[in-house]
Amino acid sequence: MTTRMSLPKQMAIGMVLGIVVGMIAPSVGLDASWFKPFGQIFITLIRMVVVPLVFFTLIAGAASVTDVRTLGRVATKTLIYYIFTTALAVTIGLLLANLVQPGLGLSLSTENLTPKQATVPPLVKVLMDIIPLNPIEALSQGKMLQIIFFALLFGFGLSMIGEKGTTLYNAVDGCAETMIKVTNMVMLYAPIGVFALMTVTVATHGLSVLLPLIKLVAVMYLASLCQVLLVYLPCVKFAGVTPGKFFRGLASPLIIAFTTCSSAAALSANMLSVQKMGASKPVSSFSIPLGNTINMDGAAIYMGVAAIFAAEIYGIPMPLDKQLTVLLLAVLASIGSMGVPGAALVMITMVFTQVGIPLEAVALVAGVDRVMDMARTTINVLGDATGALFVTRLEDGKLKPQPENQA
Ligand code: ASP
Repeated sequence: MTTRMSLPKQMAIGMVLGIVVGMIAPSVGLDASWFKPFGQIFITLIRMVVVPLVFFTLIAGAASVTDVRTLGRVATKTLIYYIFTTALAVTIGLLLANLVQPGLGLSLSTENLTPKQATVPPLVKVLMDIIPLNPIEALSQGKMLQIIFFALLFGFGLSMIGEKGTTLYNAVDGCAETMIKVTNMVMLYAPIGVFALMTVTVATHGLSVLLPLIKLVAVMYLASLCQVLLVYLPCVKFAGVTPGKFFRGLASPLIIAFTTCSSAAALSANMLSVQKMGASKPVSSFSIPLGNTINMDGAAIYMGVAAIFAAEIYGIPMPLDKQLTVLLLAVLASIGSMGVPGAALVMITMVFTQVGIPLEAVALVAGVDRVMDMARTTINVLGDATGALFVTRLEDGKLKPQPENQA
């Protein structure tokens, strides 16, 4: 029993096997779509646990914070971290794209390509939408910001009723613990799910799709690497976690992000992983679900890179003021992106419209979107994890890692 291979290792093997099978499948006549349901089962399973896990953990977290001001402080620090690191992400994307010029000399046909378009919702509407008319509906539809809002209020209410709330607190805390166990059970299927997802991805988005836009993909991955090295690792170091521990601790959520292209799917694993690494429960049970919804550094990098790429293809000049517009809009558009595959591809139309890039450009990059999304989602998840460790360090002065006992 005790010699069983760790879950992240099994997942990594599943991923590598998936790449191999996906690569050889077309040549041996194996229909990769056969594997699709196995991947879909995994995505559904991990999304199934998100709402109850976040709901109960957040209530228990908020109820254990006796001073409301503490949560206000945590929220402020978290939001500042999110906005600042997202702005850095777009900047890195823009700088690298300007340097490498991935679209220069490429002439790609945009005939018959019709993009979907996203429109900018008014800020007042965005803010008002955080308040649920009916919390049960918010829960049933998985509206994360509304769930966070209600769970926080409920948690505060629970802590205010003192003695009377003890039984309910114990019950909620018990539900949170149970959901952690359920998540761990669901994760046992992860190696198979990861294998299936990777097989389908590689078989359908192989080299022939990639090659024409390889420079664009390379800039995206390079910018993502820069974001990790220049932004996340210094924050993680400040929090007192070594890079080795950081990546090892986050292996499960990162593999999930990379293979599912959905940060919503990686939410539960991410929250449990940062808590194991020492992020405090009140901080991480708030900041990880919030970040999952609004902190999308990978999407932000992508928007910077893709804007320059598209402008180059269409020969549209991008002076500094236009690039600053891209910066601002990409931060907003990334906040509005959801944690599902391809979200940023729709949201980027907001950026393109504002700087006069034809929307057909979106359809142009859509062919390689899955591969770009793999990097985006991994960075989106990594950004939230870093934030939870960083803010815990700011709040508590020190991280308290949980003892290692994971199978
Ligand atoms: N797929 C990304 C995520 O789930 C969103 C995006 O960048 O398209 O985080």
